[in-house]
Amino acid sequence: MQYDLEGRIRTMKCEGAMVGKCRLCLQDGVILKRSHYLPAGVYRLLRDTTGLSNPNPYQLTGRGSVQTSKQQREFLLCNDCEQRLCKQGENWVLAHAKQPTGAFALESILSKATPSVYELGNPTKLYETALIPEVNRDALLYFAASVFWRGSIHGWNDDGSVPVNLYSYKEQFRRFLMGDLPFPRSASLWVIVRDGEEISQLTYAPSGLSRFGITMYRFTIPGFVFMLSVGRKIPERLRQYCILRGAGNPVVQTTIAEPWLMAEAREKLQQGMKARQNRQGGR
Ligand SMILES: [Zn+2]
Repeated sequence: MQYDLEGRIRTMKCEGAMVGKCRLCLQDGVILKRSHYLPAGVYRLLRDTTGLSNPNPYQLTGRGSVQTSKQQREFLLCNDCEQRLCKQGENWVLAHAKQPTGAFALESILSKATPSVYELGNPTKLYETALIPEVNRDALLYFAASVFWRGSIHGWNDDGSVPVNLYSYKEQFRRFLMGDLPFPRSASLWVIVRDGEEISQLTYAPSGLSRFGITMYRFTIPGFVFMLSVGRKIPERLRQYCILRGAGNPVVQTTIAEPWLMAEAREKLQQGMKARQNRQGGR
């Protein structure tokens, strides 16, 4: 009897898996999981537990916005690599992110520490995590790098385009995630702790732009904004707050992120509406 490979793959797809090459460890012929773009745990942070409004998360995509339970997933990684991402970044970061209950473990840790830069009336504080052993900066760096990298290996956008361009550094990011190389020298990662209530659940996948040979992307989840700059000529002002290579391994806590996050959300909403109108007009 001939082995029904297609039938087997169909069955595995139904079970949420298929056979192929893992994009992270590059092993071929392995069972692939339906990997998330933004980790599943992020969606749990977005659930409204009050029962008063739509329980589905409010999610902004590169091409518009939807209030949806639809999660962006694709067959990309093997089980070992999924576990690697969980253990090395996601588990710690999501446990310390802002929860639907309002609890925010990282904020509590920072509130007991002394900021290195802080003036009365200034909405921004700078903490040197080298002095705060409770802050797992390896997990923060790994988690953010893994989300930006995931954005660079698949056409997650509605039109099939790839949302993040890491240019020639993509392979270095992959090898960093595999533990083979240090975090790329030509990259700088800022971790911003969001201080403010207004839109604490606002979440969106990486978006960014490229200018003067430097590429900057950011994404936000409850409690955090992660900003990545990549390029050979990253200016010192972008390097100085890098959690890995900035002096004292800094994180920034600020209220000023909220207005520009909101402005960006509005812009994405308008883009989405325009795209929908164009689609309808084209019919
Ligand atoms: Zn793998």
